[in-house]
Amino acid sequence: MVNVKINDELTLTDDKFLMIAGPCSVEDEEQIVGVARDLKRIGVNVLRGGAFKPRTSPDSFQGLGEEGLKLLSRAREATGMAVITEVMDIEELPLVEEYADIIQIGSRNSQNFSLLKQVSKQKKPVLLKRGFGNTIDELIASSKYLSMNGNKNIMFSERGIRTFEQSTRFTLDISAIPVLHEKTEYPVIIDPSHPAGVNRYVEPLALGGTAAGADGLMIEVHPDPSKALSDAAQQLTVPQFRALYDKVKNINAVLDKTMI
Ligand code: PEP
Ligand code: MN
Repeated sequence: MVNVKINDELTLTDDKFLMIAGPCSVEDEEQIVGVARDLKRIGVNVLRGGAFKPRTSPDSFQGLGEEGLKLLSRAREATGMAVITEVMDIEELPLVEEYADIIQIGSRNSQNFSLLKQVSKQKKPVLLKRGFGNTIDELIASSKYLSMNGNKNIMFSERGIRTFEQSTRFTLDISAIPVLHEKTEYPVIIDPSHPAGVNRYVEPLALGGTAAGADGLMIEVHPDPSKALSDAAQQLTVPQFRALYDKVKNINAVLDKTMI
């Protein structure tokens, strides 16, 4: 049975579906607070935004660091949304823990066992992304590092794996949803944005994941994707996200799940 307590207002259970949305990176106050207000109005309760960014190239935007965390706090104060952000390094964990409601472990750190052990010592819920080169059993093994000190508020995120296919950025493994449900009690949050790589593929992947029984979605939404400092091609505009949200809600009605 799925049971993850996010905060006093939000608990994810089998009859609920968690929507997480927000930009790839926190860029400035107007961007993050503005998009948070728009998303909250649509019905989203958890805001995403990276402050420490794992970029393939050191020449790319690396995130605002602590300033980004402060801006996420401002968005939380303005909207009442819970915030999720990535921790990349043991060093920055105390800071991320102070500001975040949910701690995200990125795909590239999914098997960073020293980091996982440190994160296991804190009490906030954790979203563990699947390493893009990892099997489902390796992902489950990583989750055991996170729960070794008693924290069971863990969510998996399937965000696509590397296959021979080149037409999308990664291959979303829909099969991971029933397999993880069979093998663990942790919810599965589908991230359709990173496997899609371009925004026109995000909606079909999101709807497919929802219909396959995912417990939630995490989607990149930017007030003006063309100006985004990271992952510009795959971020949705607010109107695109609103249209997707309504469809996801309809699928969940068929599945007897309420959106939180
Ligand atoms: C992200 O969610 O912004 C991100 C970097 O994702 P991933 O770790 O799955 O690549
Ligand atoms: Mn991204």
